[in-house]
Amino acid sequence: MQNIDYVIVGGGSAGCVLAGRLSEDPDVSVCLLEAGGKGRNRLVRVPFGMVLTVPSPFINWCFKTVPQTQLNRRRLYQPRGRVLGGSSALNAMIYTRGHPSDYDGWAAVGNPGWSWRDVLPYFKRGENNSSFHDDYHGVDGPQPVRDSFTDNPMHAVFLDAAQQAGYPVSPDFNGAQQEGVGVYQVTQQDGERWSAARAFLEPILSRPNLTVLTGAHAQRVLFEGRRANGVRYRCGGHTENVRARREIILSAGTFQSPQLLMLSGIGDGQALQNLGIGVLQHLPGVGANLQDHLDYMLIYRARSLDLIGASPRGILRFMHEIGRYRHERRGMLCTNVAEAGGFLKTDASLPRPDVQLHFCVAVVHNHGRTLQHLWHGYSLHVCVLHPASRGQVRLASSDPGKAPLIDPAYLSDPRDLDVLVHGFKLARRILAAPAFTPYRGRELFSAGAVSDADIHALIRARAETIYHPVGTCRMGRGDSAVVDASLKVHGVQGLRVVDASVMPTLIGGNTNAPTMMIAEKAADMIRDQSGAGAST
Ligand SMILES: Cc1cc2nc3c(=O)[nH]c(=O)nc-3n(C[C@H](O)[C@H](O)[C@H](O)COP(=O)(O)OP(=O)(O)OC[C@H]3O[C@@H](n4cnc5c(N)ncnc54)[C@H](O)[C@@H]3O)c2cc1C
Repeated sequence: MQNIDYVIVGGGSAGCVLAGRLSEDPDVSVCLLEAGGKGRNRLVRVPFGMVLTVPSPFINWCFKTVPQTQLNRRRLYQPRGRVLGGSSALNAMIYTRGHPSDYDGWAAVGNPGWSWRDVLPYFKRGENNSSFHDDYHGVDGPQPVRDSFTDNPMHAVFLDAAQQAGYPVSPDFNGAQQEGVGVYQVTQQDGERWSAARAFLEPILSRPNLTVLTGAHAQRVLFEGRRANGVRYRCGGHTENVRARREIILSAGTFQSPQLLMLSGIGDGQALQNLGIGVLQHLPGVGANLQDHLDYMLIYRARSLDLIGASPRGILRFMHEIGRYRHERRGMLCTNVAEAGGFLKTDASLPRPDVQLHFCVAVVHNHGRTLQHLWHGYSLHVCVLHPASRGQVRLASSDPGKAPLIDPAYLSDPRDLDVLVHGFKLARRILAAPAFTPYRGRELFSAGAVSDADIHALIRARAETIYHPVGTCRMGRGDSAVVDASLKVHGVQGLRVVDASVMPTLIGGNTNAPTMMIAEKAADMIRDQSGAGAST
């Protein structure tokens, strides 16, 4: 395939936004390569489908980490979307942006143009929020953001309990005050999941200047000298090349964008040579700086049929809910499971929240991969919002078909364990509040844990990811950075990375909206080479 201006690798949260925005100009041509399929089926569209897609390989890469030293050498599960929409096609649909200071922090470490003031317009540009019409929100962007469609009475129970435990309510996590508890807004419309593909790509698939190839697994970037000018990919058992006249943009996500850079000879020179890969650019930061939200879940069994479960009465209720979904597009099938939550401080003197809560209307343990999630119950997840631990992604092999080695190095900085212990106690205080008394059944897993030593042991045995890996193609200056503030890869031409991997530090919230914001801003920088930081 010839005469393409921009080739985008990866049709996930970032790739769909980019493809949609860049192809708005009828004078440029855009090709999007996605390894997975189209994802147009009920399991993706009905929000409840995530109960099946997160634990299974259906549209999911199902990665695993290397053994985690601080977590009893467990290999942790890392689901990632393998489909148009990427992880936004199987995620929990929560729309949050993090704390303004997260972005001011990015700007302060050498990334002009990325302060909160700079990025807010890009959040708003993509957003179509039906509830909040103020300075913080957009109302006419492609991405629907809606209040929960489930009408679950357990929301009120959770909010009452948190207030009884002394915590405030935040009416809008993305508004003036992040701190507090509330019910999450979701990336849904009319009770259906609205992935980045559905919002940004599906409506414009007929554009003649846009080519979307699914089942196309990129193997490496091709160069002429130091200029990226094409991508080699496998599709239907064949190897093909696509050439780009202007730029190649990697949007393959936090694990696979660095993998592709390394397969293309960009990374730590010695490590590449050890695998027999020719070194185009020694860039030791590629794959480094991996950060993720480590999470502990407190779980109670409960009899309420408002809590998802597979008891005989629960199944009858579910049948009723299917009918309700068909007619009203409301109720239990609209669940994003983690329906409510909050951003709280484990110490009131902190300048910003340091833990996030996800209140799940189900027993959510081990990513729903055990039979225990068939019981009725509720779970309160707590994660460390600004981890100090740093891990890495490395190549396992020079074979693009092999998964990379993923080492988040969870709890390698002991400060993260301290925060999680405090978060555990905070979550338990909320679950012990009187509002939960009519519902509270047996505490699973954590019952009897009282001392810090008990809690440490539980965390090491049970903590898991809450799915927000970022940082492996860090934006910034200096030897350890991978891209500059305009997201161009250091040391080569014609190549950018645009996805969650460029975040220099993990934001204090869920990462989907921030990733789409990055792509909105990148589209402007690509279209207007005089944009912020476009210097190389
Ligand atoms: C289970 C789960 C729940 C989550 N819940 C939430 C939530 O509720 N709210 C929230 O804000 N965030 C959530 N997240 C995180 C959020 O979805 C991600 O941060 C975001 O989608 C990342 O976007 P991305 O563009 O960087 O990567 P992705 O969306 O993962 O996209 C990468 C794309 O690249 C493709 N790809 C990879 N390698 C290649 C290759 N070599 N060739 C071609 N294509 C390739 C992949 O198939 C994929 O489609 C969740 C994530 C998961 C996994």
